[in-house]
Amino acid sequence: MTGNPDARLRALPSVDDVLKADAVALAIVRFGRPAAVTAVREALAATRAALRAGNTPPSQPEAIADAALARLAADACSNLRPVFNLSGTVLHTNLGRALIAEAAVEAAVAAMRSAVTLELDLATGRRGERDDHLRRLVCELSGAEDATVVNNNAAAVLLVLNTLAEGREAVVSRGELIEIGGAFRLPDIIARAGVKLKEVGTTNRTHGKDYAQAIGPKTALVLKVHTSNYRIEGFTKQVETRALAAITRERGVPLVSDLGSGTLVDLSRWGLAHEPAVAEAVDAGTDIVTFSGDKLLGGPQAGFIVGRRELIQKIARNPMKRALRIDKMRLAALAATLRLYRDPDRLAERLPTIRLLARKKPAIAAMARRLLPVVATRLGDVFTVEIVACASQIGSGALPLETMPSAGLAIRPRATRGEGRALERLAAALRRLPVPVVGRIEKGAQILDLRCLEDEAAFTANLAGLDL
Ligand SMILES: *Cc1c(COP(=O)(O)O)cnc(C)c1O
Repeated sequence: MTGNPDARLRALPSVDDVLKADAVALAIVRFGRPAAVTAVREALAATRAALRAGNTPPSQPEAIADAALARLAADACSNLRPVFNLSGTVLHTNLGRALIAEAAVEAAVAAMRSAVTLELDLATGRRGERDDHLRRLVCELSGAEDATVVNNNAAAVLLVLNTLAEGREAVVSRGELIEIGGAFRLPDIIARAGVKLKEVGTTNRTHGKDYAQAIGPKTALVLKVHTSNYRIEGFTKQVETRALAAITRERGVPLVSDLGSGTLVDLSRWGLAHEPAVAEAVDAGTDIVTFSGDKLLGGPQAGFIVGRRELIQKIARNPMKRALRIDKMRLAALAATLRLYRDPDRLAERLPTIRLLARKKPAIAAMARRLLPVVATRLGDVFTVEIVACASQIGSGALPLETMPSAGLAIRPRATRGEGRALERLAAALRRLPVPVVGRIEKGAQILDLRCLEDEAAFTANLAGLDL
């Protein structure tokens, strides 16, 4: 074939020519004729573009058919790929937060495969309520009178504010006007709920009298927000829930608390620091509490709203609830997750979030020692590998300043020249593995925190595909 691009362009096979190639016959069997024809057109267009750009791609019909088949095979894989989360953050929002307990996976799959009594009361044959499947469990575990559930905690906050305070004021401490990653900013949510924000106190100090003075005829509620992802330290003051509840009760306005992560058990049981428990907030007199399903609770994405019956009923009747409701799969998974909490002694065995958070450093370090030679051999001479102490985080804004002692591998380029680029190349190669490995780069090293690695054999087998 000539080196002249125009001649090569004219010599490109037609779609029909490529369709006769064996690879296309295979593609049609695997992916169907319309998809195969589209892929052939795309492969031809890509070859044409490469020729125009002065390159010399293979342009025989077989080569183009192979390219088309490769495109189809790549498209057939989900983009939502399983990864090894070695970032050191257990509830990593970008990696899908909580891993779901087996019991919850099974419950969700069963609900997917069959018609279910989502809104059917079998006893009466009448229409039932979605919330009925969770109400009893949530109330049992939180001590609340009533409960409802929506898409996520952001939706829960939005729905509560819109129902109880639309057109009126919500009183919030200046120390609690938070931004959670992913564009959840409290003042914006308050505005979108149709509520006017009334700020009280200062950034570092808010007193009971600040709340008391701010509550007036336009006040619909007082909102307390758990400052999940930061802490104000030093000369600070915030009003304890019980004291604030006394103030709001006296003035006849509801106290709403956004706990963010919230938890249904005392985490100190597993050596973790204290995180506000839902039952404590309810017990302290909070009228409505909201929290996430996929943070410390360890279930699928959801937002719980629990509290006083009369308020919950009002919230559940808001037409917006329909737009924010959850489906049968998540409902099934949530109920199964909550059921595990009835047996706290076995929670760490059954609930991956607690299991991973409770892992002790010596066990993780032992794994690091076993994996060190495997990883070092795979990486060859260009990198050094050593065992390092790590500090894992819970993530998703829970206990932001608390870390859990962990262990991992630190990989560093041997040569100091071009060190940054070598690290980036290594991180990219780890992401290209059949099961991508997500670590973090810190102080000139690629760190793989092993807290969330449970399947060591799968990790080792996966590493065989490393292409630096
Ligand atoms: C995480 C968080 C939210 C948002 O919850 P999602 O379930 O992610 O929607 C809201 N408020 C607080 C305090 C949080 O920590």
